[in-house]
Amino acid sequence: MKKQEKAKSDFRYDTGEAKVPWAAVGETMNIEDISSIIRLLIPEGKDHSAYQKQFEKVTAELEELNKKGQFATKLSMGSNCSMLEDAAKKFLNVKHACFVTNATAGFDIGLKFAGLKPGDEVIAPAITFLSTIAYPLQIGAKVVLADIDPLTLNISPEDIERKITKRTKAIMPVHIGGYPCDMEAIMKIAKEHNIMVIEDCAHAFGSFYKGKALGTIGDFGSFSFHEVKNITAGGEGGIVVTNTDYGKDFPKARFGGFDIAHPIDKWLYDVVALEGKDGHLSMAGNHSSTEIQAVVLLNQMKRLPGIIEARKKNAEYLNNRFAGIEEILPCPLDTKDIKSVYHLYLFQLDHTKLNGDIQDFKVKMAERGIIQIPHFAPLYRFSYLKQLGHDTAAMQKSCPNAENAFLHKFTHLPLYPLTDQQVEYMADNIIEAVMEMRKRK
Ligand SMILES: *Cc1c(COP(=O)(O)O)cnc(C)c1O
Repeated sequence: MKKQEKAKSDFRYDTGEAKVPWAAVGETMNIEDISSIIRLLIPEGKDHSAYQKQFEKVTAELEELNKKGQFATKLSMGSNCSMLEDAAKKFLNVKHACFVTNATAGFDIGLKFAGLKPGDEVIAPAITFLSTIAYPLQIGAKVVLADIDPLTLNISPEDIERKITKRTKAIMPVHIGGYPCDMEAIMKIAKEHNIMVIEDCAHAFGSFYKGKALGTIGDFGSFSFHEVKNITAGGEGGIVVTNTDYGKDFPKARFGGFDIAHPIDKWLYDVVALEGKDGHLSMAGNHSSTEIQAVVLLNQMKRLPGIIEARKKNAEYLNNRFAGIEEILPCPLDTKDIKSVYHLYLFQLDHTKLNGDIQDFKVKMAERGIIQIPHFAPLYRFSYLKQLGHDTAAMQKSCPNAENAFLHKFTHLPLYPLTDQQVEYMADNIIEAVMEMRKRK
């Protein structure tokens, strides 16, 4: 390992050799901290005394290791975070990448550069996670929910077009399960109306659409590395990307508008507002990440191709097993233009042909020990939009496909990590359940 270089902006000031070194440097991590992380990641099983004995050995080895090496002096935003950003830029073929706390922070950053103000409108799909629309609601912008495409559950470009007004500032397509939205249609609408596009790529790190990585087609894309996604930065993490010049200000957007390149008189730095579209100014938040998160994510990125392959294989197997069963709608798979990461297997029933719908089906699956968790309930069904002054009844009425999918048609099946036996058991039991639900003529 090469010695960690210190960048000029570091807070863990390294003043070098001195008679009285600058000591107001935060505590570093020691052996106890490191062994408690090991204890967290490899918790005790049933065999207490054997675990304890082994753990003592590991701790003793760590102490020996420490005698040969030295403690890290850089924990936040160091060379590993930069290496991660470089790796992401290369993988996605994008100009700017910024490692942040989570995907939600990336949406905030994109929307600030889009110039979003109170009273502006943002169009997002009815079916997504709560955080897609969090920033607009935080600043008093209006959220407009668009209906979904019934086959992919992704946002419907036709409904985006219907819902655009003079106040629309941003469109936020969400690639549900990693499967691309109809980006060509969405970008065409956005260009016609001079509206920015911020892609919610929380599920889609490594999905491609017509040769371009998702997240790099709109003005901004933000990926999640939360523990439930395909790969994780040790529990939490996000990367926001762009090909626009706003990316040059990513470091400022990530950390408070901190500007070390242009210090004010008699001080070390300046603090500046972020300048977005049409000169709109906003205050940056603090979304910095740690070196530990970066190291973990760099490693997990190496495993990503294998993970996608395993997920894809299971999705294809399920589609093959369900082929010819007319009550099961096929999950969209890869095409010439689309390479998905198979974060979720979208399972949909044509309930009009069955005795019962997805709710009845879910009960049957639970009885058979098959866990399926649909992502997500339509956002207008939660309290927050209504509490914050939105007409959720009108939203619901304007999104019939989202409502129908949620109530009657869709759930998500597990894909990974599963054994072949588990996938086969799931397919057998789903087919059996659907046969039980078939309408008797
Ligand atoms: C997980 C998720 C998010 C949020 O990601 P964080 O990294 O937790 O902020 C946003 N949108 C969708 C669709 C998600 O599933």
